Amino acid sequence: YSTKLLVICSISSGGLLAYADSNTNGAKSISVPCQNYETTQKKKVVVLGTGWASTSFLKDLDISSYDVQVVSPRNYFAFTPLLPSVTCGTVEARSIVEPVRNIIKKRNGEIKFWEAECLKIDPDNKKVLCRSNIDENLAGNNEFSLDFDYLVIAIGAQVNTFDTPGVLEHCLFLKEVEDAQRIRRSVIDCFEKAVLPELTEEERKTNLHFVIVGGGPTGVEFAAELHDFIHEDLVKVYPSVKDLVSITLIQSGDHILNTFDERISSFAEQKFQRDGIEVLTGHRVMSVSQRMINMKTKSKGEDVSIPHGMVVWSTGVGTRPVVKDFMEQIGQGNRRVLATDEWLKVKGLEDIYALGDCATVDQKKIMEDISAIFKAADKDNSGTLTIEEFIDVVEDVVIRYPQVELHLKSKHLFEVTDLLKDVDGSDREEIDIEGFKLALSHVDKQTKSLPATAQVAVQQGVYLSSCFNKREKCKSEPEGPRKFRSGGRHDFRPFRYRHLGQFAPLGGEQAAAELPGDWVSMGRSTQWLWYSIYASKQVSWRTRFLVIGDWGRRFIFGRDSSRI
Ligand code: FAD
Repeated sequence: YSTKLLVICSISSGGLLAYADSNTNGAKSISVPCQNYETTQKKKVVVLGTGWASTSFLKDLDISSYDVQVVSPRNYFAFTPLLPSVTCGTVEARSIVEPVRNIIKKRNGEIKFWEAECLKIDPDNKKVLCRSNIDENLAGNNEFSLDFDYLVIAIGAQVNTFDTPGVLEHCLFLKEVEDAQRIRRSVIDCFEKAVLPELTEEERKTNLHFVIVGGGPTGVEFAAELHDFIHEDLVKVYPSVKDLVSITLIQSGDHILNTFDERISSFAEQKFQRDGIEVLTGHRVMSVSQRMINMKTKSKGEDVSIPHGMVVWSTGVGTRPVVKDFMEQIGQGNRRVLATDEWLKVKGLEDIYALGDCATVDQKKIMEDISAIFKAADKDNSGTLTIEEFIDVVEDVVIRYPQVELHLKSKHLFEVTDLLKDVDGSDREEIDIEGFKLALSHVDKQTKSLPATAQVAVQQGVYLSSCFNKREKCKSEPEGPRKFRSGGRHDFRPFRYRHLGQFAPLGGEQAAAELPGDWVSMGRSTQWLWYSIYASKQVSWRTRFLVIGDWGRRFIFGRDSSRI
């Protein structure tokens, strides 16, 4: 019997980093004395960033074996999934941030924090060059360098304008807490300007045309928040212009939320249509000016221009200059993001790790390796494997790549043991490997990398701290898979990403969710699920209390329209 099987492998993993000194972007050439905080034989760990990846790494790290220093220009952690809520005052900015010194305090002050940004990573000399942006009028030098034994790069990503003319000058972004506060002020400005005397109706309409570029989860959630803010609160305080307001969402692809299940995309599109949010799919923004946004339709190449009062640009993420510079130093200059191996080590370097949005595991290479293993097992090139051969190959793949999950054609996920049982328990004697298709799931289809989400960043941080905590033990008792080429075993199991689902709040107390097991849920009950999950995910009881309090305040009193 020859049975066709479709095997879908889903992979995940992490990355690493390094440092250099001398010239920096736009900064003068500096030679700074190294500060030496080392008083013990502890290994020096320098962590760059105070975002999702670094804080989850620090949370569980056993600092009895390490001297840890954290560098970030932000002395707080921000709960980014609630940033869209901050743009409209549903939640206050201070409710979603936790001072990093509170997080460090839990470690009895043994983790040191420096409010500065890393300008250069020097992997050869194991140093990072940093500069603080704190007021230069205060006494003391703002530049310093740090030595490290291990470096953890977790500096996230920056907005990606795709070099579109006028975007930097005329658009707002939604990446940091300050961005959300800026948007909130700008929305109120648009309303206050629109109600001034002696404006034409056309001018009022232009000022009240809100445009969002990017139909991904952030753009969609912001459009929904803005719609609720306007229709639940602002129309009551600006009644004279309530019929002049419009919201347009521009998406270059054919659908919004195109990384979600199709049912969610069409549910969101229909809901936005009912709410009067215009969705322009298949439109590519060519340039933005102070008053106009200029586009081309993808199908016919026609030019379309629309006036705007405010544009929020939300089209994905790009690499930060310091990471770009580092990538060039280590021969990764032609890549989009820093590549790491499955242990989150920057490819080709020892002792430098990269996690979160600034890095990605080289998934394509893993898929090629797995493909090669299957092909090599088919010694007679018959396109088939015996059951025994098949089981050997699957076992081999699983041992080498425990982060790979095997799925059967039915789309039901089987743990490998189930798969083996399924194959073993049948009366099949051969497996036709020509039917094999190796595909990636839970992986960004365009970039073949893990999605740039907090979920990935947190799991990578937890994984890396567990490796650091058992570093000594695993040297003598390695727990990782056999080494593919050089023999022996890897010290640690590779990083494995578990996709726990994703939410898209759609406004009007409705949300859509894709949950594990291909489960899709939409509507009001999903919004309540969203409230409970995001309340439970807060990093401290303080922020949990503040966020729930803000939700309650909004339910009772509505959102505040003051421009502060
Ligand atoms: P970040 O969290 O961005 O942290 C980077 C850190 O590095 C910051 O502390 C920064 O100050 C610091 N840094 C920057 N430059 C330097 C430098 N030169 N030197 C030292 N430090 C530096 N993900 C989800 O899973 N679910 C969601 O619902 C969700 N919603 C989102 C909504 C919005 C509006 C946004 C913007 C993102 C959302 N994300 C969501 C994505 C998620 O926020 C990111 O994937 C996550 O923040 C990545 O974590 P990170 O640690 O890599 O980077």
